[in-house]
Amino acid sequence: MQNNFTPQLVSGRTITQPAKQVKVLERFDVAVLGGGPAGVCAATAAARMGRKVILVERHGFLGGMATAAIVNIWHTMLGVDRKTPVMAGLVKEIIDTLLDSGDAYNQKEDGTGQWVIDPHASKLVFDNLVLKAGVKLLFHTWISDVLREGDRITTVLVETKSGRLAIEADQFIDCTGDADIVRRSGIQTQLGNHQHQCQPPSLCFRVDNVDTDAMSLHDAQAALFEEPMDYNGAYYPCYLWGTFMPGANDERMLAGVRVLNINAADAMDFSRSEVEGRMQLQWVMKKLRDLPGWSKARLVEIPAQIGIRESHRILAEHQVTRDEILTGHQFDDTVIQGTYPIDIHNPNGPGITFEHLDGTTHIVSGNRQNTVSRWDGQSMDAPKRDTLCWSVPFRSQIPKGLSNVLAAGRCIGAEHDSAGAIRVMVNAMQLGQSAGTAAAMATTHNTCTVQGHALREQLIAQGVPLLSVTQS
Ligand SMILES: Cc1cc2nc3c(=O)[nH]c(=O)nc-3n(C[C@H](O)[C@H](O)[C@H](O)COP(=O)(O)OP(=O)(O)OC[C@H]3O[C@@H](n4cnc5c(N)ncnc54)[C@H](O)[C@@H]3O)c2cc1C
Repeated sequence: MQNNFTPQLVSGRTITQPAKQVKVLERFDVAVLGGGPAGVCAATAAARMGRKVILVERHGFLGGMATAAIVNIWHTMLGVDRKTPVMAGLVKEIIDTLLDSGDAYNQKEDGTGQWVIDPHASKLVFDNLVLKAGVKLLFHTWISDVLREGDRITTVLVETKSGRLAIEADQFIDCTGDADIVRRSGIQTQLGNHQHQCQPPSLCFRVDNVDTDAMSLHDAQAALFEEPMDYNGAYYPCYLWGTFMPGANDERMLAGVRVLNINAADAMDFSRSEVEGRMQLQWVMKKLRDLPGWSKARLVEIPAQIGIRESHRILAEHQVTRDEILTGHQFDDTVIQGTYPIDIHNPNGPGITFEHLDGTTHIVSGNRQNTVSRWDGQSMDAPKRDTLCWSVPFRSQIPKGLSNVLAAGRCIGAEHDSAGAIRVMVNAMQLGQSAGTAAAMATTHNTCTVQGHALREQLIAQGVPLLSVTQS
């Protein structure tokens, strides 16, 4: 599709900005940059340990993709056996609070399924959590640059309505999702897959007035795939999924738009994804209304931004591999455990691939045909693997070349495939709790000198059910 709606850079042309004075905020022990699920938990964990913490976020509320992009399904906290808790701590606290207020439900009656949350109610829960912990908040603030001396970041520069401000801290936690802090400090990062293609962003939206017996999303996707879209002549590329909103049986969140070939850390691409996302949304709404039970569907929300799945990840002391995820490898310095499968949305076309811990691979095509095979080379009738969960080591949160910076959330050190499993909400929160705790422990030292086993002990004391490292 012709992109004539975003500006272009003038090739080779730069200007030198004259030096100017920048106002400095009060000094912090820990600065958490980015207020998504990871940032909320990082800031809360550090502040609960008595550290002076600032949390910086470009939107006017916390939650990142969970709120700004209304991604409202959160994965389970149980192992693959659907019995053993493999995570808890702050993530459980947040889910329990949402359950208490009726703003969340589990997709399975026995509580072993995925959690569905109200994105707007969770904004309030996130506010209360960080404020109670004593975190200082700076909203509507873009992190734009970093000052570094050797292997230490000294200052993060931010753009605000009051102009440019400087934030000084002992420890910095990069929770931007796109590794903005590490990249701005001039340290190399990893973008997308081997061809630097990223999982595509999706625009989620809410509709109401949908009949209770309306055509399923599975069949709706197949129907939408039958003819090219009007705005670009391509076939519908999205894996269409959605949920009923808590407390509303005729209202759904639909992850119904997928924009291809986007690097969300590129300003022009990011803008294109929003424009093209809304073009696709208009076509999807028109087509959905032709399907049984969808004729009166009313668009009730387009969120603050398109949902970003992947861009840059740090190059860490340890880069988690696909093999380590799929075989449930345990590390001496494991700080989080998860069970979400490797879930890769095709960056440049329709289709999605899931690789599960039980040994199976599911490839779903654009017209919703499902092909099942085994990634472990076993025959289809061989017993399923019984791996309980996978793990992430603390070393994957430590960027190489920086001694007072940690990363949490979807930008930690992981290969493209493994990041496809680690990136989901509950894992991002656990990684935040780990980074916040480590930064609090390290305020007088370098973060990379925090020992993994000491951090594990702290996390276990906070209620995180880390398995003994010999278990798998
Ligand atoms: C369409 C879609 C569907 C998904 N489906 C699921 C699902 O079903 N279940 C699930 O559990 N997970 C799902 N995920 C994954 C999950 O939403 C994210 O991976 C998760 O939000 C990652 O959390 P994070 O805190 O690392 O990053 P984010 O949620 O991206 O948060 C990053 C935060 O940093 C802020 N920020 C970034 N850069 C700057 C800057 N320069 N200055 C200031 N602020 C900045 C952003 O505004 C944002 O608030 C989905 C994601 C998408 C996009």
